[in-house]
Amino acid sequence: MMKVDHIGIATRQLDEALTIWRDALGLEIDSTEEVTDQGVRVAMMPIGESHIELLEPLNENSPVGKFLEKRGPGIHHVAIRVADIHAALAQLKEKGTRLIDETPRLGAGGCLVAFIHPSSSNGVLLELVQRQ
Ligand code: ZN
Repeated sequence: MMKVDHIGIATRQLDEALTIWRDALGLEIDSTEEVTDQGVRVAMMPIGESHIELLEPLNENSPVGKFLEKRGPGIHHVAIRVADIHAALAQLKEKGTRLIDETPRLGAGGCLVAFIHPSSSNGVLLELVQRQ
């Protein structure tokens, strides 16, 4: 039962990004929150069974702030929903995958999340998400 949970998009300012996603495309904001742990402000917009996750850095030194400085706005990560994040991490580790998070942490919306290093996944930062 894996699904694409959301696609994370790095943006300098949520308001700027909303002119396309909300105003032009017509998506609606489900929730907005600050995830201080990751130095980011997040706006979640449902699209079908998935979400677009807009990410605005709270400071330049946050992971998204550094991403923007290096590459500019764009797709930051792809998030895959799993039923059991501990089991998924154990399986990836067994297969030799390079993990950023060996153990899950608390993400937006109170989900458990863990990131997989892009060097193990074709240059794409992957996030595992287990919804409670
Ligand atoms: Zn995400």
